[in-house]
Amino acid sequence: MNTRGKRFVESLKDGRSVWLDGKKVEDITTHPAFTGALGTLENLFDMLSDPVMQKKIGFRSPTTGEYVHNAFLVPTTQEHLRQRNEAFKIWADATYGVMSRLSEFARTLITSWHATSEMFREYDNQYPDKIRQFYEFARDEDRFVIQAFGNPQIDRSKDAVGASDLDAHLRIVRKTSEGIYIKGAKTVATGAPYAHDLIIAPNYQVKDTNPEYAHALIVPLNAEGIHMICRESYASTNMDEHPLSARFDEMDAVIVFDNVFIPWERVLLHDHPEAVWKFYNTLKSNALTFHQTVVRLVSKLEFITGIAFAIAESIGVHTFLNVQEKLGELITQVETIKGLMHASEVTTRRDQFGMLIPSSVPLQTARNLGMRFYPRAIEILQQIGAGGYTQTPSTTVENSGEIQAYIETYYRGANVSAAKKVKLFKIAWDIVGSPLASRHELYERLYAGDPSRMYAIQYLASDKKALEERLEQFWNSAGGSDAVDEFRGTVFATDK
Ligand SMILES: Cc1cc2nc3c(=O)[nH]c(=O)nc-3n(C[C@H](O)[C@H](O)[C@H](O)COP(=O)(O)OP(=O)(O)OC[C@H]3O[C@@H](n4cnc5c(N)ncnc54)[C@H](O)[C@@H]3O)c2cc1C
Repeated sequence: MNTRGKRFVESLKDGRSVWLDGKKVEDITTHPAFTGALGTLENLFDMLSDPVMQKKIGFRSPTTGEYVHNAFLVPTTQEHLRQRNEAFKIWADATYGVMSRLSEFARTLITSWHATSEMFREYDNQYPDKIRQFYEFARDEDRFVIQAFGNPQIDRSKDAVGASDLDAHLRIVRKTSEGIYIKGAKTVATGAPYAHDLIIAPNYQVKDTNPEYAHALIVPLNAEGIHMICRESYASTNMDEHPLSARFDEMDAVIVFDNVFIPWERVLLHDHPEAVWKFYNTLKSNALTFHQTVVRLVSKLEFITGIAFAIAESIGVHTFLNVQEKLGELITQVETIKGLMHASEVTTRRDQFGMLIPSSVPLQTARNLGMRFYPRAIEILQQIGAGGYTQTPSTTVENSGEIQAYIETYYRGANVSAAKKVKLFKIAWDIVGSPLASRHELYERLYAGDPSRMYAIQYLASDKKALEERLEQFWNSAGGSDAVDEFRGTVFATDK
C-alpha cells in the first residue's frame, strides 16, 4: 500500500528538470544527492497516516475528512495556536531543527493569504477564489510548497538604484486567454528539487513603468521550461561518518524560467506594482510564518546545546568555570528564544478577518537574535570540542578494526568509550565543520533576509512613541519645554 510518504516521493517523478553536476537528474527519488532528505520527508508525511501522530500534527480536512497538516489550520483561538506550535515542533524535532524548509512556512503563507483574501479583492476580483482554490488543493493533496523571492546576484549596486539588469528578473513575456508566459530567474529556492509548487513575487517595489515585473504566482515546479540548478550536494551516503549530511541536506537551487506557461488560476496578481508590493509586504510582516521559524529555531538551538553538553562531559571539561559559562550561554539562548515564542503566543492580536495572530515583535526579535545566536552557538561548540574535532579517526571502522586497541586507549573519553566518543564527535563535526555545517551557518545568518536590513526594519517598525515619551518626561523633570522642542527636532527628526 502506498503510504502518504510513499505517495509524496512517487509524486516527484513528474518530468521535473533538476540539474546537478552539469547533468539533468533523471529521477531524483533514486539519486544519492536526494534520497537521504527524501527518506526524512517520507517519514514526516507518514506521520499523517499514523493514528496517534496525525492528531498531534493535523486536523481533518472539511472536504476529504483526511488528516491534513496544521500549517493549514486558520487560527482563531489560543488552542489553534497551540496546535500549530505542536505540529511545527514535532516536525522540527524530527530533523533536530536542521531541515528548515519542510513546507510549513510556505503552507502557512498560503493559509494566511487565504484567510485574509478580501484584502486583495480591490486589485483583482478573482484573487480570493484563486487563493482559496489553491489553499484547498495544497491542503488536501499534501502539496509541498516553497518560496523564492530573490533575484540573481548580478549587480546589487544597480538593484539599489532601480537600474537593475532587468533581463534576469522574472517577468511576463506573453499573455493568452489561458494564462501567461514568464521568463527570468529566482533564488534562493531551498528544497526546490523535491517541492511541488513555488511561490514567487518580486522582493522590491517594481516601477509603475515596468508592470510586467509585478506579479505574484504559484508555479508548479514540473512546468515545462523550468530548470532547477542545484548547488553542490553535501549529502552523504554514510550514516556513520556524516549522520546529519546523510539525512538532512535540503538542497538549494536557482530556478530558471524559460518561457514558462502559467495558467491564470495560478496567477494571483499581475501587472500591478502597488498590489504586488502590498502582497510582498504581507509576507515580510507575517507573524504566522515567523511563528513557525521561531519554533524551528528553538529545536535547533536545543540540539546544539545538547551536543555541547555531551562533548563537554565526554572530555571532562564541563567541570571548568569558563566552559560552564559557555554552556550557560547556550541555555540562555534557548530560553530567550523560547520565552519570545511564548510571549508571542500570549500577546496575540485578532485581525479584521477573525484570525488570531501571535504578536510579531517578539517573533521578529527572536528571528533577529537567531541570526547572531546561531553562529555564536557554533563558535562555542568549536571552543569546547577544540582540537578534538581533528582527532577523530577518519572512519568509525577504526573503532573495531586492526588498530582497535589504540583507539580504545587513546580515543576514550572521561565517561565514555572510544567508540561512543568518536560517534559523538562525528555528529558534532557534521554541524560544526562539514560542508553541511557551513551551509547551515550561512542559512541561519541569512534565511530571514539581509541581517543589516532585518535589524534596521526592527528599528524602523518599532513603536518609538513610548520611548520618546519616557525621555521627554525625564527631560521635563530636568529642564524645560524649550529643551524638549529642540530635542524633538534633532533626535527624532526622521520620524516627524
Ligand atoms: C542557505 C540559504 C537558503 C536560502 N533559502 C531561501 C529560500 O528558500 N527562499 C528565499 O526566498 N530566500 C532564501 N534565501 C535567501 C535569503 O533570503 C537571502 O540570502 C537574503 O535575503 C540576502 O539576499 P542575498 O543573499 O541576495 O544578498 P545580497 O542582497 O546580494 O547582499 C549581499 C551583501 O550586500 C549588502 N547589500 C546588498 N544590497 C544592499 C543595499 N541595497 N543596501 C545596503 N547593503 C546592501 C548586504 O547587506 C550583504 O552584505 C536563502 C539564503 C541562504 C543563504
